[in-house]
Amino acid sequence: MTGFKEFAQACRTIENIPGSLDMTEQVAQLLQDVNCDELPVVTHFIMGEVFPAWSAEELGIGTSLLYAALSKAAGISIKEIELLVRDTGDIGQTATKALNSKSKGQATFSSFIEDTQELSILEVFERFKNISKVSGKGSQTTKIKNLQYLFNSSSPEEAGYIARLAIEDLRIGVGEGIVRDAIAKAFDVPVSDVERAFMLTNDMGLVAVTARRGGVDEVQKLNLELKRPIKMMLAQVTPTIETAVSEMETAAIEWKFDGARVQIHKDGDNITLFSRRLENVTRSLPDIVSAVREHVKADSAILDGEAFAVDDSGRPRAFQEILKRFRRKYDIETTAREIPLTLRLFDLVYLNGENLLDKPLTERRAALLGCVENTGSIKVDEQILTSDTEEVNRIYNEALEAGHEGIMIKNPNSSYSPGKRGKNWLKKKPIMETLDLVVIGAEWGYGRRTNYMGSYTLACHDPDTGRFLPIGKVGTGINDEQLAQLTDTFSNLIIIESGMEIELKPEVVFEIAFEEIQKSTNYDSGFALRFPRLVNVRDDKSPDEADTLQRIESIYSAQRK
Ligand code: AMP
Repeated sequence: MTGFKEFAQACRTIENIPGSLDMTEQVAQLLQDVNCDELPVVTHFIMGEVFPAWSAEELGIGTSLLYAALSKAAGISIKEIELLVRDTGDIGQTATKALNSKSKGQATFSSFIEDTQELSILEVFERFKNISKVSGKGSQTTKIKNLQYLFNSSSPEEAGYIARLAIEDLRIGVGEGIVRDAIAKAFDVPVSDVERAFMLTNDMGLVAVTARRGGVDEVQKLNLELKRPIKMMLAQVTPTIETAVSEMETAAIEWKFDGARVQIHKDGDNITLFSRRLENVTRSLPDIVSAVREHVKADSAILDGEAFAVDDSGRPRAFQEILKRFRRKYDIETTAREIPLTLRLFDLVYLNGENLLDKPLTERRAALLGCVENTGSIKVDEQILTSDTEEVNRIYNEALEAGHEGIMIKNPNSSYSPGKRGKNWLKKKPIMETLDLVVIGAEWGYGRRTNYMGSYTLACHDPDTGRFLPIGKVGTGINDEQLAQLTDTFSNLIIIESGMEIELKPEVVFEIAFEEIQKSTNYDSGFALRFPRLVNVRDDKSPDEADTLQRIESIYSAQRK
């Protein structure tokens, strides 16, 4: 059994290595040193994850829960933990400092058990597993107790890495690339085979164990498996239809439906659905499950598509409504009746035991058309093969007139590349207008943004009352230099501070890009922005020149037309 101490030591060594080659060497050594049971756990841990990305298991540890566990373990107040976080900018260092302050003081549980029992890697994993299993009433207390046990059973340094693992952010600079190379090095398997096996399994831990046990031959046998989702292929933005089409001799054009992605695994009558983030959403979408069961004629299949909902006039309903369906845990049947979903399938990557990933899109699509019975609620997305940009523009306008997002321009000869955003799938959507919004609040940042105001509350102007009405928060699109400058500017505008929250005098206007305006009960304006991003600080604008509630309302209704 390897102690967690060894893992923590390896992390500290790796953390201080500047070059990725030496880092790979160290990770490879660690993978060789642990036993077969520990190998998958260590492979995930070293990348800062506890469970593989495809797994339904989730830790669900937020900062407040972590602070509570640390405060109990170290015997200091949550306020003191928060100050340490502000001071160190890192939850790992916070945990180490908090527990160090304790061990200097009184005899601790950890000092008591230190000589008798050493925390092992597998024990840490088991505790995390316990944490992921609990739900409902009392679950917070159980989670805190498990974390507290881990903190009190480890040295302050180990506790630092446990705290970072608890929020799945190990911060030692080891990502998928380094782990891939380290597995290849440790078990003498070509990097390309490790990479392919990871693409098919979505599980580096499994690839590592297979490489160690069976070498290259067994790694090459790893394949897609039903109920183990693969990453979705992604699309890149194309600035114009003309450039996109000119890059492909013939382009495959499809509508870009305004809905949510689903990956469907069919194993006989057993259907499993995964969201874009690979969460298992089967229980929430019984209508899609039965449509697939009835109308997909295959013993086994992995299909890719978009689920959307339409209103009485046949126009797509707001994205939020679809998310309501995906997130629903109770009253599922009622919500399904209120927001029935329509499924458009556009890809097939596995059929009756055969992996189709490397086949060209045209072949995958022919196979898809061969096994789906088109009905109202489930259909294969229409596709036109063309090199005529006028025709593509016509399809684009039709898609927009129907209320959908735009079009996808796909390379008909391309294979399906899980998780890749490349030139084989391009998307064309209209460019959204931006909004000028007033900054009325901020939040002290976390991690790299400690001591900076990391996210800003935005408001629109209501000329009728003269009030500024909140509409959302923005934290993206801000570079480090801007962050420092903005913090400086806003420090003079603080009205009150409470914990991490700051209320600001409404003086600064941000120009904000966004994907969509949604209705919301979270903000006083009644609206919220989807994917807001800072484009510019509009020093030239005063707060009362900011966009009005009326403009927000009109953009919102234009979106729906
Ligand atoms: P975006 O979310 O803007 O990156 O655009 C890519 C997304 O468009 C995919 O993840 C799908 O959810 C969605 N989509 C809608 N229609 C299609 C289609 N015909 N082919 C591929 N993706 C589509």
